[in-house]
Amino acid sequence: MATHHTKMLIIGSGPAGYSAAIYAARAMLEPIVVQGLQPGGQLTITTDVENYPGYRDVVQGPWLMEEMQAQAEHVGTRMMWDTIVSVDLENGAPFKAIGDSGDEYIGETVVICTGAQAKWLGVPGEQELGGKGVSACATCDGFFFRGKKVAVIGGGNTAVEEALYLTNHSDDVTLIHRRDELRSEKILEERLMKNPKISVLWNKTVESFEAGEDGALGHLNLKDTQTGEASTLATDGAFVAIGHAPATELFKGKLPMDGGGYLDTEPGTPKTVIPGVFAAGDVTDHTYRQAVTAAGMGCMAALDGERYLAALEDAQEAAEAAE
Ligand SMILES: Cc1cc2nc3c(=O)[nH]c(=O)nc-3n(C[C@H](O)[C@H](O)[C@H](O)COP(=O)(O)OP(=O)(O)OC[C@H]3O[C@@H](n4cnc5c(N)ncnc54)[C@H](O)[C@@H]3O)c2cc1C
Repeated sequence: MATHHTKMLIIGSGPAGYSAAIYAARAMLEPIVVQGLQPGGQLTITTDVENYPGYRDVVQGPWLMEEMQAQAEHVGTRMMWDTIVSVDLENGAPFKAIGDSGDEYIGETVVICTGAQAKWLGVPGEQELGGKGVSACATCDGFFFRGKKVAVIGGGNTAVEEALYLTNHSDDVTLIHRRDELRSEKILEERLMKNPKISVLWNKTVESFEAGEDGALGHLNLKDTQTGEASTLATDGAFVAIGHAPATELFKGKLPMDGGGYLDTEPGTPKTVIPGVFAAGDVTDHTYRQAVTAAGMGCMAALDGERYLAALEDAQEAAEAAE
């Protein structure tokens, strides 16, 4: 068991955490990144990434995250292969966190970048065909299905938005919902129902995802929730849109969250209600959920953390001068 001190403790190692680390290290804050169970974050479970700026060709998600990690280490970040299991933020700075290893982390500031995980259906074929036709992000992967048949599974705002978005790429979008009415906002529902490129399959659940001859997704096996009747839907892409779960269990009762469990921040900033504690990336953002937005928020958090520490130092010097 060891105790690690830092000016900036960064919890999480996705694009938000690594970007915060790059900025913090270059500001001589000697940051520590505690990587968690998924070093590199969500992009390590995808293949092609075509919308992260700076690369004219498609890059692989795991490779991109290795590069970000290497960049953060190159400028002086300490990486810890550990997972935070408890935090003490409410007693003010310095903040304490305990890792699964038993190590203690003491940070003058904390940046929470624990991200979110897409919820999956948990049915056969879903994980096996991930990146081969099955996805949880239309904004990320819709472009790969230009001119093809796609399906969206879900009935809330996310599902309806994903279906509408996919009509930019496909003329044949099917929304599959297990009930006979949507849970989305009325205005979104109206847009969906008016869109000639979208058809809705009501009262259907996806029982499994099946590969075609080429090994990629070929069709979905469906079941009618009212009659139990089985059917199939041939499709090239399927987008599971049943929500996301932000990784905020650790912060329950310690930091304010919205109804979905996302950390609240001061609008337009990564500042939480506790001075010196910041949140960046998907853990606080249920709207954009992209690598580039997470990275941008990580940068903002590091810059705000640096300013917070500088202001503290100024106040301390002024107090000493007045004595
Ligand atoms: C299949 C898939 C494909 C995608 N494709 C694209 C794409 O093409 N383009 C795009 O821009 N976006 C894409 N995204 C979305 C993108 O991956 C996310 O928006 C982005 O990764 C969010 O970054 P983040 O840093 O906020 O969090 P995440 O990437 O979710 O990382 C969270 C980090 O927190 C760590 N963590 C969690 N709990 C703890 C803890 N208790 N202690 C320590 N660490 C902890 C995890 O280990 C992880 O490292 C995709 C997402 C998925 C799932």
